[in-house]
Amino acid sequence: MTDAESTTDQLESNAEQPQMEFDVFCHECGYNLRGIVTTRCPECGTASPALQNAKPSIPWAHRESLGNVRAFIRTVLFASFGLRKLSQNVYLPIDFAESQKFRRWTIGTTMLFAIAFVVWFQVSGVSGLLSDSFITDLRGMIWPSVVIVGLLALYVVLATGVPSLFFDYRDVPVSLRNNAVALSYYCAAPLAWWPIPLAISVLIILQNPIDIRNRWLAVTLTSIAFIAPLTPIVLWCFQLFRIAKRVLRGQTGRKVWLTIGIPLLWFACAILVFLLIPLAGFYTWVLVDALS
Ligand SMILES: [Zn+2]
Repeated sequence: MTDAESTTDQLESNAEQPQMEFDVFCHECGYNLRGIVTTRCPECGTASPALQNAKPSIPWAHRESLGNVRAFIRTVLFASFGLRKLSQNVYLPIDFAESQKFRRWTIGTTMLFAIAFVVWFQVSGVSGLLSDSFITDLRGMIWPSVVIVGLLALYVVLATGVPSLFFDYRDVPVSLRNNAVALSYYCAAPLAWWPIPLAISVLIILQNPIDIRNRWLAVTLTSIAFIAPLTPIVLWCFQLFRIAKRVLRGQTGRKVWLTIGIPLLWFACAILVFLLIPLAGFYTWVLVDALS
């Protein structure tokens, strides 16, 4: 250890130590840092943000200096592609209300895309792409679009809330549990750009790549059409799993349940929102129509 390093360590150890009510693990080597008096991991020497009273590295926490829109875009990129970075924040003080605000912004962005699509669908005179008489009829009516947007909004609200259920364990210390739940809302960040790969996929499918003479190009395009809309979901799940790895340490059963349970619940919500609720609505309409 050089002189400069030992001085910093001394300075850091003199700094006020945070009160840790739960086990804090080194984000590099996994060593348990509970009760450590310096700010560095004794095992590998990495400076631990949790022991330095650091602010979370999530750009959304620095909204005041960045501005809402810039902080939002940066957080979306950070939480989508900063593969390990988001989960490293789990031992830092994360503001729960801020995470909820980020969730609302994410849902809002997705819905803006959806509304833009519906408006385009209603006003576009694209006859080549959508020439089906059924689609033309559909475009003549406003209410199906309104219903679909409403159901989609309900689904997105449910889907972004589902992962939080899998971190809510009574035996996990309250602040760690709250941090994990708050981070699980940040994990939904890929929702904000989901419509982009979705649009790419739809455009490819509309071009009928199977008909392309060049076999390889056809196969590549078809694969992209299938894989592109899945990438945001994969990134979302990946981030959730990174958090679970830190919060549910050594609890394999819970991690397996999280890995299976979240996609299952997402599917169940889709059945509820896009099948059962419209069916209930349809029967109510039939009933009201018959009675009146
Ligand atoms: Zn370490």
